[in-house]
Amino acid sequence: MRIAVCVKHVPEGSARIDPVSKRLDRSGEGALNHFDANAVEEALRLKGESDTEVVVLSMGPEKAADSLRKALAMGADRAVLVSDESAAGSDLLATSRVLAKALEREGADLVLFGQQASDADGAVLWAAVAERLRRPVVSQAAELSLQDGSLRVKRQTEFGYDVIEAPLPAVVAVSDAINEPRYPSLKGIMGAKRKPQEVLSLADLGLEASAAGEAGSGTKVLALADPPARGDARKIEDDGNAAQAILDFLVEKRLV
Ligand SMILES: Cc1cc2nc3c(=O)[nH]c(=O)nc-3n(C[C@H](O)[C@H](O)[C@H](O)COP(=O)(O)OP(=O)(O)OC[C@H]3O[C@@H](n4cnc5c(N)ncnc54)[C@H](O)[C@@H]3O)c2cc1C
Repeated sequence: MRIAVCVKHVPEGSARIDPVSKRLDRSGEGALNHFDANAVEEALRLKGESDTEVVVLSMGPEKAADSLRKALAMGADRAVLVSDESAAGSDLLATSRVLAKALEREGADLVLFGQQASDADGAVLWAAVAERLRRPVVSQAAELSLQDGSLRVKRQTEFGYDVIEAPLPAVVAVSDAINEPRYPSLKGIMGAKRKPQEVLSLADLGLEASAAGEAGSGTKVLALADPPARGDARKIEDDGNAAQAILDFLVEKRLV
């Protein structure tokens, strides 16, 4: 059995948008998206002592290899990085196209995602990839088990839990409540360097350069602007009359 885990390399620290490219500045330090550590952990838990292969997959700049190495240090068996100049500036449409193509090549029985990426926060890529692969998808998985060619998921919702069964192959986005990701051990960190790490171009996946990046995207950022300044905000220090001061403010604004 093979489990593929999609992981994203995200910028560390506060986000900055490059005013020229109108994209998130990804030139600084980056790290494994922390929600994806839950997906890697779950794959390792499902693998257990079996001969299941866990492959981690990312699309991103060369530096994304650092995040893949962290997943290898946690215990994944193999890493695949799709890194190509022409893929920079890919939106959801283009990103899902490239990842789906790489996943088709892997032919995994189960594809795991984190619940969301901490930089773009879309929480939707897994649905787009599953649609392209024509596979069932379950999100917000708080418990996951496999048996006889199918999976069973306890899905966290606003109102409680849904229990969902689906045939394999399938796509699952795990919730951050599903487990506590392990820290890589020193042995794991040293061993990660010797594990297979493949870097693929778009051409290696049989994709034209125009399938990704701005050319392959359906979204165009037309303009960027700062959020509007706050209106009439007043800070009230509580000297014992704060409640009255708030009420006076609301009356003045004709809000009560
Ligand atoms: C005009 C435009 C330009 C953009 N340019 C870039 C760019 O240059 N680089 C860039 O990274 N993003 C870029 N983005 C953002 C890009 O669209 C998103 O990264 C992508 O759609 C995934 O959405 P998300 O990050 O919100 O992930 P979510 O939907 O929040 O992610 C869910 C899960 O998907 C997986 N995942 C997400 N991204 C990847 C990935 N790259 N590889 C493997 N697994 C992944 C992870 O498991 C993650 O937990 C751009 C967006 C727009 C609109």
